[in-house]
Amino acid sequence: MRIARFTTGEEPQFGVVTGELDQHGQLEEDAVIVALAGDPMYVGLKLLEQEHRLADVRLLAPVLPRSKVVGIGRNYAAHAAELGHDLPEEPLMFLKPNTSVVGPGDPVFYPPQTSELHYEGELAIVIGRICRDVPVEQATDVIYGYTVANDVTARDLQRKDGQFTRAKGFDSFCPLGPWIETDLDPQTFTDGVALQTYVNGDVVQDGTTADMIFDVPTLVAHVSSVMTLLPGDVILTGTPEGVGPLQVGDEVEVSIAGIGSLTNRITTR
Ligand code: MG
Repeated sequence: MRIARFTTGEEPQFGVVTGELDQHGQLEEDAVIVALAGDPMYVGLKLLEQEHRLADVRLLAPVLPRSKVVGIGRNYAAHAAELGHDLPEEPLMFLKPNTSVVGPGDPVFYPPQTSELHYEGELAIVIGRICRDVPVEQATDVIYGYTVANDVTARDLQRKDGQFTRAKGFDSFCPLGPWIETDLDPQTFTDGVALQTYVNGDVVQDGTTADMIFDVPTLVAHVSSVMTLLPGDVILTGTPEGVGPLQVGDEVEVSIAGIGSLTNRITTR
């Protein structure tokens, strides 16, 4: 099931998105969104008799992380190599503030402090319940679903600072969406799901989640061994090779097979 957050100009609502995805992660034209009462993560699935054409609503970030977005660095061998790093022996964690989250179609702001803004297309795990010290074999129980992320990074600031807070923490540096897919098994990603990033329509990353060094259950176990995870927290699972620069005016799209496609434009404030 696809859980989205949307607005028709009024208060944001949650809804269930219907329709078939094409291979590019785009929905058929007549897709609809059925409104829900409240946040289904907390109150369960309560369908309202209220339906909109998807084309008539504006989608918002499908989750507002209650406390944190946990990033995982260098989780694809070829990406670690392209940045000149050895492979990590355990997952390399960092945090992005929840204020960095924006939704599909929202602008990503190119900050004046950087001259090397990069995209990083990533699979995002959405946590569904409070948890700590989750065993690998029980990770599925705490996962609400999956969405698409762009771990936008000021690469020059990442090198300069030696840690990631500023480079990955600017407002708008964590586009999420277009919705949360709740029906996928983590094994699907271990087996391999295609992940592509496009800049102005040209493919710049063409990876598969099968190349992740640490798989989804391992990441949930690892992160939760350090910090309590709350409903709505997000774990970014790392990016495949092919990261590269963005310029003001660029349109960047991250597409994950079976989930959907997330598009944002780079602008100045
Ligand atoms: Mg990343």
